[in-house]
Amino acid sequence: MQGKIALEEHFAIPETLQDSAGFVPGEYWEELAARLLDIQERRLREMDENGIEMMILSLNAPAVQAIPDTGKAIEIAMRANDYLAEQVVKRPDRFQGFAALPMQDPDAAARELQRCISELGFRGALVNGFSQRDGAAPLYYDAPEYRGFWAECDRLGKPFYLHPRNPSPADSAIYDGHPWLMGPTWAFAQETAVHALRLIGSGLFDEHPGLKIVIGHMGEGIPAMLWRIDNRNAWVKAPKLHACKRPIASYFRENFWITTSGNFRSQSLIDAMLELGSERILFSTDWPFENVDHAAQWFDAAPISEADRARIGRDNARSLFDLQ
Ligand code: MN
Repeated sequence: MQGKIALEEHFAIPETLQDSAGFVPGEYWEELAARLLDIQERRLREMDENGIEMMILSLNAPAVQAIPDTGKAIEIAMRANDYLAEQVVKRPDRFQGFAALPMQDPDAAARELQRCISELGFRGALVNGFSQRDGAAPLYYDAPEYRGFWAECDRLGKPFYLHPRNPSPADSAIYDGHPWLMGPTWAFAQETAVHALRLIGSGLFDEHPGLKIVIGHMGEGIPAMLWRIDNRNAWVKAPKLHACKRPIASYFRENFWITTSGNFRSQSLIDAMLELGSERILFSTDWPFENVDHAAQWFDAAPISEADRARIGRDNARSLFDLQ
């Protein structure tokens, strides 16, 4: 398929590059680092060769979220966003941007989001899971201190991409002795799915029904679990324990979009289509951690209708991100 739009596509600046070390064996680091630092050359060639018209770019992970000094987090976010804006302006027909946000300070994050949308023309934000702040437990965004941030996000009307990171060491006991489960194998999905469910359960979307959240990797496992989340022990007349008013699945279907990033599997795509509908699913690759050709060759041949391929590959992104 020609004209695809991809939106979980990462770059790094020198200050955040090392955050991506360790996700591939040492002998691949030189290649991964070169992929992360490039925007206008190899990346564009990969896009041309694989029918990708546009990438919406975002900073690598965990980057800003893992800077416990709030002032430094604000500074690095602004530096990354300014750099991204300079790159986008060279090829706005091929690249657009997501804001990196210093969520350690909800007011600063709201201001930076506003700057990125109104001054830099970004299409939304991409945040790498919880944030670390000196002296604080991991900051999850269902907390009351983030309601002002979400109000601004709602007012601006742009999507918020909740991207994975590994759980904090204090919350990783279940993985002790099994480092192979960290990262994309399992821990990323677990961490991100729980964070997404916390947002829903907190009642955030009752307060802000217009919020648009995107999660990657075919929904981080949630589509396959969606029925069970709302139907556990259905024979028991127990009061609901979450603050939100409606079943969890109803918010997931109304406030969330998912992408195919790093999960190139037709069986999983079709499950997600059955749960959410093709209008809620968007093509992505997760470059440079996954290969663009692996994503594109799988998607172009996936056993779905051409109407669904057009929606997932391009049309949903155009409409969600107001692309021309
Ligand atoms: Mn990613």
